Amino acid sequence: MTPLIVTSLVLLAYYGVPFAYMRWLRSRARSRCRRDGVVILTFDDGPSDTMSDRILDCLDKHKVTAAHFVTTRNIKNREAKILRAFNRGDIVGCHGDQHVHHWKSAPWAGIRDIRAGWARLHEITGQKTTLVPFRPAYGKLNLLSLVFLLLHRTPIAAWTVDSMDTSAQRPENAQQIADRVGREGGGIVLLHDYDRQDEKVNNFVIEVIDLLAANSTPEAGISSPTTATFQ
Ligand SMILES: [Zn+2]
Repeated sequence: MTPLIVTSLVLLAYYGVPFAYMRWLRSRARSRCRRDGVVILTFDDGPSDTMSDRILDCLDKHKVTAAHFVTTRNIKNREAKILRAFNRGDIVGCHGDQHVHHWKSAPWAGIRDIRAGWARLHEITGQKTTLVPFRPAYGKLNLLSLVFLLLHRTPIAAWTVDSMDTSAQRPENAQQIADRVGREGGGIVLLHDYDRQDEKVNNFVIEVIDLLAANSTPEAGISSPTTATFQ
């Protein structure tokens, strides 16, 4: 084999296999949500000074639970917010420690970041953190970090509906997200837990929760995520 072919195969394995795996996870999640008519709320990047409590207050108001994928560097001085979520029965999963992009860092940096996140989260919740759902930053894993998670039997948490709350292309109003979830017959909704300068965006996150809760019916509504949701 020529060096070019070898290089191509290595790159395909390093980026392509985990990319395809994440796509498969997303497609499987979409089918399951549609089949069971469930809506799962997920919040990445927390905890935060203000939004964590606003989100939890809103979840309390609607009597629903959610999954939080915590960026553990943000925990310092906000431990109580993690415990509040954990004690109300929410999933408190890991989103890494430093929000490392596994494609744009050294091959081993993703694994190091996952391990650091697990250790920090364990200090707070006491969970066996290898077995709590993990959501990679930017939804990206490389081959090493994928194999690492599979060997640990760590559930990898995909999402099916991106609320775009971190994007300039954010929808005009939260109703568009609720409509999309309705069209897809359910879904795992990606939202973010951090304090923006623009209060409109913070309100957008809360409005998405309110609308999805308001649209819920006994047959199809916001569901309580469990570890099995992401397995
Ligand atoms: Zn993130």
